Amino acid sequence: MASASAISGSISSHSLISCDARASLIGSVRHLEASIVPSTLNCPSRRRSAVKPLHAVEPARRNDFVAPLAAAPATIAEAVVEEKGRVREEEEEKVDYDQLASELENASPLEIMDKALEKFGNDIAIAFSGAEDVALIEYARLTGRPFRVFSLDTGRLNPETYRFFDAVEKHYDIHIEYMFPDAVEVQALVRSKGLFSFYEDGHQECCRVRKVRPLRRSLKGLRAWVTGQRKDQSPGTRAHIPVVQVDPSFEGMDGGIGSLIKWNPVSNVEGKDIWNFLRTMDVPVNSLHSQGYVSIGCEPCTRPVLPGQHEREGRWWWEDSKAKECGLHKGNIAQEEAQKLGTNGNGSAAVNHVNGAPDIFETQAIVNLSRPGMENLLRLENRREPWLVVLYAPWCPFCQGMEASYVELAEKLSDTGIKVGKFRADGDHKPFAQQQLQLGSFPTILFFPKHASRPIKYPSERRDVDSLLAFINALR
Ligand code: SF4
Repeated sequence: MASASAISGSISSHSLISCDARASLIGSVRHLEASIVPSTLNCPSRRRSAVKPLHAVEPARRNDFVAPLAAAPATIAEAVVEEKGRVREEEEEKVDYDQLASELENASPLEIMDKALEKFGNDIAIAFSGAEDVALIEYARLTGRPFRVFSLDTGRLNPETYRFFDAVEKHYDIHIEYMFPDAVEVQALVRSKGLFSFYEDGHQECCRVRKVRPLRRSLKGLRAWVTGQRKDQSPGTRAHIPVVQVDPSFEGMDGGIGSLIKWNPVSNVEGKDIWNFLRTMDVPVNSLHSQGYVSIGCEPCTRPVLPGQHEREGRWWWEDSKAKECGLHKGNIAQEEAQKLGTNGNGSAAVNHVNGAPDIFETQAIVNLSRPGMENLLRLENRREPWLVVLYAPWCPFCQGMEASYVELAEKLSDTGIKVGKFRADGDHKPFAQQQLQLGSFPTILFFPKHASRPIKYPSERRDVDSLLAFINALR
C-alpha cells in the first residue's frame, strides 16, 4: 500500500501552475493529458471540468457505451476509425498481461491505477459497488488523471448505498455512470417468480438480470475496467486474482475473448489496510459499515457479519460459501466448481434450471434442440433450411459472454430462412457432442449448410454479431 507521504508527493509535483494559468489550459484540453489535468486538483473551482472532459471531449464515446460494433465502413472517417482500431489491436497483441501482472505484483495500488489510466485513457472505467471500493476512486483521483466511474443500480440496493453514491459524486465532483437492468427482463422475472426467488433457487438468475447483463452492456463500451477485488475477500474464488489480467468472462468494445483487460489494483491489499487508507485520506464511506456490514451488495442479499466472521458470510448466506460470486467475476470460479453449479450432482444436466445455473439463450428466435433433434440434423443431407447451432453449457462464462450477441443474431435472422438453434452439450450429452459434433470447448458454434452432411465449425473466438454474420454469409 502506498504511504500517505508518497501520495502527497505525487500531488505536489502537479501543483505549480496557478489557477488562472490552468483555466486557459483546461479550455484547450482535447486529449487526456496528465500534465494538464492534475493541476486542477488544488483548484476546487476547476475540479469538475478536470474530471469530466471525458464527456466533453468525446461525446460520441458516451453513445458508444452500449452500442453494438459498427458494420463495414461506409465513409473515409469510419475507415480511419477502423484503421486506428486495427493498429490498436496490433499494439495490444504485443502486451503480455501475465508478464505485466508479475512485473506489477509488488507495485502499490496507486502505481497500478496510474498505469491502468495512463494506458487506457477514456476507454477504461472504475466499477464502483458502493462499498469500500471507494478507495479505487480515491486512488484514481490521486493519480491526477481523468477517470470514469460506473455502477450497477440493481434496483435492490439499500437506501444508505444510494445516499452514499450521492455523497461520493459530490465529494469527487463526478457523475457516476449508472447502468440499469432491462425493465422487460426484470418484469418477466418478478412476475413469474416473485420478488425473492433467489432465496428458493439461488441468486444467479436474479443477478444475471439485474447485474451481469447490465455489466456486459457497460463493458462493451470499454477496453478495460478496474475492480476492487481482493484476494482476502473470498478464499474460495478470489485467492489467485492477479493485479491485471485479460478478462476471462467479458468482451470489450473490440469484441471477442481477450478484448477486455481487467485491472485489480487492490488484489494484494488486505481489508484492514484499505480501511487505514480510507481513514487517512478522509474519504466518505457507506454508513452501513458502521452497522456491521463489510461486503455490501443488494439489500435482500447482504447482512452484517459478527466479529470473527468472514466478510463474504454476509452475502448470499443461504448458499455454498465457496461460490459466492454474482457472475460479475465468475471467471474466478474454477471450471470444476462451475460444473458443479451446472449439473445436478450425478453428472446429468437438467434442461432449464439446475442448482442456480439458469438456462441461457432463451428467446423464441432460438430453437432449443433435443438430442434426437441434433441427431436428425446430423443425418440429413438435404435440409430445408441451413442451421446455425451453438453447443453450450449454461454455467460456462464464455457462453454467457456471447449470449447477447447470439440472441441479437437470431432475431436478425428470424425472417431470412436461416434457423438458429442451441444444444446443451454438457453432462450426459458431452461424449456425443465431442465425438459427433466437434465439441472441443464451450461454446462451439456449428453451421449446417443446406446441402452438406457435415456441419462446419466456426473457427474464431470473435462472437459478435458482425463476425458471426460474415461466417454465415460466406457459407450459405
Ligand atoms: Fe438479485 Fe440479490 Fe443478486 Fe441483487 S444480489 S441482483 S437482489 S440476487
